Amino acid sequence: MTTTEQPATEQGLATVGHWIDGEHVASTSGRTAPVYDPALGVVTKRVALADESEIQRAIASAKAAFPAWSQMSLAKRQQVLFAFREVLNRDKAELAEIITSEHGKVTSDALGEIARGQEVVELATSIPSLMKGEFSDQVSTGIDVYSIRQPLGVVGIISPFNFPAMVPLWFLPIAIAAGNTVVLKPSEKDPSAAIWLAQKFREAGLPDGVFTVLNGDKESVDGLLTSPDVESISFVGSTPIAQYVYETGTKHGKRVQALGGAKNHMLVLPDADLDLVADNAINAGFGSAGERCMAISVVVAVEPVADELIAKISERAATLRIGDGRRGCDMGPLVTEQHRDKVASYIEVAEQDGAEVVVDGRTVRPEGDENGFWLGPTLIDRVPTSSRVYTEEIFGPVLSVVRVQTYEEGLELINSGAFGNGTAIFTNDGGAARRFQRDVQVGMIGINVPIPVPVAYYSFGGWRNSLFGDHKAYGADGVSFFTRQKAITSRWLDPAVHGGVDLGFPANG
Ligand code: NAD
Repeated sequence: MTTTEQPATEQGLATVGHWIDGEHVASTSGRTAPVYDPALGVVTKRVALADESEIQRAIASAKAAFPAWSQMSLAKRQQVLFAFREVLNRDKAELAEIITSEHGKVTSDALGEIARGQEVVELATSIPSLMKGEFSDQVSTGIDVYSIRQPLGVVGIISPFNFPAMVPLWFLPIAIAAGNTVVLKPSEKDPSAAIWLAQKFREAGLPDGVFTVLNGDKESVDGLLTSPDVESISFVGSTPIAQYVYETGTKHGKRVQALGGAKNHMLVLPDADLDLVADNAINAGFGSAGERCMAISVVVAVEPVADELIAKISERAATLRIGDGRRGCDMGPLVTEQHRDKVASYIEVAEQDGAEVVVDGRTVRPEGDENGFWLGPTLIDRVPTSSRVYTEEIFGPVLSVVRVQTYEEGLELINSGAFGNGTAIFTNDGGAARRFQRDVQVGMIGINVPIPVPVAYYSFGGWRNSLFGDHKAYGADGVSFFTRQKAITSRWLDPAVHGGVDLGFPANG
């Protein structure tokens, strides 16, 4: 198995360091943070938190690697992506194990996030087509105009805890294939997947310095945001930090795409197939313990369906096996004890605000793993829209139900929230679904599909407080984000079309 750690420290715990110039680099900052195994509830390793000199070393290495990598032919860069795709696919079980041991999500779900990340690698193998410019022949007599795309330079990626492999892979393959060099700052909660990806890219033939992993906290993020040597920032995380990253990065002259939090609604019309809806509400509400930016957190039930739907969801929730993700369970723990406690506190808020807790996950304690960060599936009915349970992102296995009387009332609710990441409508009425896709103010929409994460050749991103900046992740937006265009107007001397001296402003002719 690939080791993602530095040797054990005197406290007996290994420390995940950095990956710079194609090798592990132990931190000298003296600052570390704990990394937990959430199912066991114990600290299993520590992660380095970079200081200023380490941040500068990481950026300098990426900067030094840029000239050679950006000059390498498209064909050679493409070959590295093909080779990486094979290595990733071959060794994905190893990566899934790492993800489960630090994040807690069940193995099948970890494999799912790798598969979605791999899709972007596969897209990036077509970089010669994706980077093609345009050409207009004879725009004026003897003159042609064409465009080319070039990489930006050193690009920064800052990722959240909930998809330690997939979110970096939303950006990395396209950034690298386009000729950029990358500094990735992963979440300090589950840093090992990033180091693993760097090792595997090296195995695939990526030159040293093209992909750097800098482990750290706010200090590292600020270092990337303010460095004159970093051209762009791709951020994914919570909305307040996304906004901060966008404002600080753009103030320092960078191109920034900052994807933020979410509160995704599922609108259920009375004609929907309620068994399909209940299955999907369970899958999208409690998969990955609700720690997905595309999780469904609110079911908006257009009456009279609420009572029957709640009964069906409760029935299914009772069958879910909660436990260690390595043991074939349906749902694992939350990422940290602190996060579990915060999520659980919303259930108390719901009670105080007059909502009805139909399924309460607070008593779930899988046998043998009592110290894990557990919270079972929780279903709350009649959540007032003024309650914090409704207005705030909870990011855990807590599914709210809001009852409305009409489609219009449901639509108005979805459009008035702070976030606009994803949403879904469940109905058998094609006309209503089409109306919804046109009227709803949200970036990604599912029609009888609860988690509409677009495939790699479309782009991922929400509206309103779910995305700061005007580029989404991957797809055409990803190629556009990681490249700069030049337009070239060219004339080659040809005695037949020589124009002679003319001080007039150039016009077509
Ligand atoms: P987070 O905002 O706490 O952390 C994200 C990154 O920012 C991490 O690398 C972290 O080290 C860094 N960071 C944290 N605090 C910082 C600060 N004060 N200054 C500078 N950097 C800081 O998010 P998280 O808890 O790791 O992830 C969960 C959040 O991410 C949820 O809100 C979820 O909705 C969101 N998310 C959004 C998407 C999307 O595509 N829109 C995808 C995945 C996750």
